[in-house]
Amino acid sequence: MNYDIPTDLIERLIEIRRELHANPELAFEEYETTAKLVQLLTEYNIRILPLPLKTGLVAEIGDENKGPTIAIRADIDALPIQEETGLPYSSKNPNKMHACGHDFHTVGILGTAILLKKFEKDLQGKVQIIFQPAEEIGKGALEIIKTNVLKDTKVMIGMHNKPDLPIGTLGIKSGPLMASADGFTVEVKGKSSHAAVPEAGLDSILTASHIITSLQSIISRSISPLESAVVSVTKFHSGNAWNVIADKAVFSGTVRTFNHEVRQTIKDRLGEISDSVSNAFNSEVKVIWNPGPPPVMNDDKLALIAQGIAHQQNLKVIEPKMTAASEDFSYYLNDIPGLFVFFGTEGNYEWHHPQFDLDERAIPLSVKFFTDFSIALLNELSKNVVTI
Ligand SMILES: [Zn+2]
Ligand SMILES: [Zn+2]
Repeated sequence: MNYDIPTDLIERLIEIRRELHANPELAFEEYETTAKLVQLLTEYNIRILPLPLKTGLVAEIGDENKGPTIAIRADIDALPIQEETGLPYSSKNPNKMHACGHDFHTVGILGTAILLKKFEKDLQGKVQIIFQPAEEIGKGALEIIKTNVLKDTKVMIGMHNKPDLPIGTLGIKSGPLMASADGFTVEVKGKSSHAAVPEAGLDSILTASHIITSLQSIISRSISPLESAVVSVTKFHSGNAWNVIADKAVFSGTVRTFNHEVRQTIKDRLGEISDSVSNAFNSEVKVIWNPGPPPVMNDDKLALIAQGIAHQQNLKVIEPKMTAASEDFSYYLNDIPGLFVFFGTEGNYEWHHPQFDLDERAIPLSVKFFTDFSIALLNELSKNVVTI
């Protein structure tokens, strides 16, 4: 669409971003951030839905009687990190920092909502604006889903800033983009004995060590070399004395994958290997699987539409590499086709670094991209040209 974003709106969004940056709040504690968003959305006459959410909110623009419903999601939480950027609007809250750029996502999508509100009467359907809490602990998306607000939502879109991409560059990729992030804990039960009389005990450290070594065969022997996945054991606790065989060993770790089949195979092999090895050592074992967000799987047709919009706006489109970081945006994609894009923000430091920063020129670019993308999606979906 041919329009300019008003300069005063851009200036205001930058101001809001700096205010959010100076006042970061951790997962499920985003009370002030939510209150600020309520105030701003109300000021722009944007409807906020009455949902049982403690933090975060869902607003809406347009009319579901005129066409399909789509949703745009921004995450709003910060991290338990002490900021070291030295910026004039650095975090005022000790050990809390917007080190993942969710303050940028929040204002980019807020600006999108404000512009879409201006075009509301022409929208061929409804756009839900989701300000989601608690992305950093992988739990906020589930809270939004639980409210059932997405039952008629046809498409879900969202973004993450990307410090290693220049301003004006967009990373759009169909298929897998970000990894699943599951955790596991294995408890081995043996039998304690005098260290000098090992035949009277069952050495849980030895059994657990064999399990850990065998787990490292999963990627090399059970997964195709054409797939990517990680199995890392990151914690191991056992024993209390130098001269006693430990009766219990507990270790934990994480599994990262880019597709559902590989994820399931690793989960199965983890159980089988733990059982068989423990069996071989006459020990008992318990495997606890803690599921985290699934992989982010982007929809092919949505990726094409997004590329078209980006080209119209003279943004440079690249196909980003997959990242083993996870994103709870993936929970939405279990039921709704969607697209998660990377927005170039040209920073010197990666996500979660105490000196993480981003270039605010990305703010108006993101507003224009998501506004046009939303309008294009509503038009495409209501014409039914694209079956998603
Ligand atoms: Zn993060
Ligand atoms: Zn993030």
